[in-house]
Amino acid sequence: MHFIPPPVLARDYAVRLSVTERCQLRCTYCMPEKGCSCARDTTREMSHREIVRLLGALHARFGVRRIRLTGGEPLLRRDLPDLVSAIRGLGLDDIALTTNGQLLARDAQALASAGLSRINVSIDSMDAEVFRRVTRGGVLARTLAGIDAALAAGLAPVKLNMVVLRGSNEQDVAAVLRHAVSLGCELRFLELMPIGAGGTRFGEEFFSSEDVRERLRAEGFGLEALPWDMRETSRDWRVTTPEGAQGVCGFISPTSQPFCDGCRRLRITSDGWLYGCLARDVKHDLSPVLEAANQLEAGDRWSEALGQALLSKQGEKYRDPIPTMSMIGG
Ligand code: SAM
Ligand code: SF4
Repeated sequence: MHFIPPPVLARDYAVRLSVTERCQLRCTYCMPEKGCSCARDTTREMSHREIVRLLGALHARFGVRRIRLTGGEPLLRRDLPDLVSAIRGLGLDDIALTTNGQLLARDAQALASAGLSRINVSIDSMDAEVFRRVTRGGVLARTLAGIDAALAAGLAPVKLNMVVLRGSNEQDVAAVLRHAVSLGCELRFLELMPIGAGGTRFGEEFFSSEDVRERLRAEGFGLEALPWDMRETSRDWRVTTPEGAQGVCGFISPTSQPFCDGCRRLRITSDGWLYGCLARDVKHDLSPVLEAANQLEAGDRWSEALGQALLSKQGEKYRDPIPTMSMIGG
């Protein structure tokens, strides 16, 4: 396996912006059953105008042109297509979205028309009952319809995310992978992270990427590692199903194969804080950017916040993680 070295250019930061902490689901690995106050509170959410101002200054000062919108559940924001369109208008031309897919059949076409480039849809099982249990109330048919709608709307690529949990949905890895390959989508298997609700049963539920590969091989799948681009968290493998269909799947393995060295991710919460790392609860206030008198000053404020955030990337793994994944968007 050979490596592609990480970039040093500021414009290559992978920025993830949470547009809301609200979510209609309570996935067992992400949120407590009762939710958290943050999952209901809209009062602290940045407005459309504030988000556009923040990203506008980031783009103008650092040339950042790629952004991923996440949550909570981003489709709970009714202004999401307008937001995508406004972000496009700033000159950011690679806009991705991560969603649980429950409302995607309704919004896929509007999002594509607004200029959304790519989408990742979370799908933890092909068994409706397991899906309902893991997501605490999610309807599998809705997420499947959302994936179909995203493909029909021309969003490309459509990638699927599956968090694999021992004793819960581990038996479904082959079915979800078969479905992804049949659609021509890449499925990414995510290792559980000991963050938020994911930390409470981490010891019992952690299922490593190698455990997934072993299970797939035992079920007759062929797997061949592809070269790893260190800028990406996912390590891709070529896959051949037992029926002979071919595709690609990815493994995101923060515990068994950490990727901190090449990490260029920056995370912005829906209430305007910047995090350099989700394994450390160290945040930097972006309100000075929003309150700046002009774009030049806003760029300076961004420089200060970014400098602090990059320093916080040197932390020890999961020593003091963020309180919940839904506040930062994974
Ligand atoms: N609600 C959207 C969704 O579920 O796709 C976007 C936000 S969610 C926080 C983003 C991603 O983080 C999802 O793919 C989810 O599966 C993943 N995630 C949440 N908690 C996690 C945990 N403890 N470990 C690993 N992945 C997690
Ligand atoms: Fe909601 Fe996404 Fe967290 Fe599930 S993973 S509770 S869908 S924010």
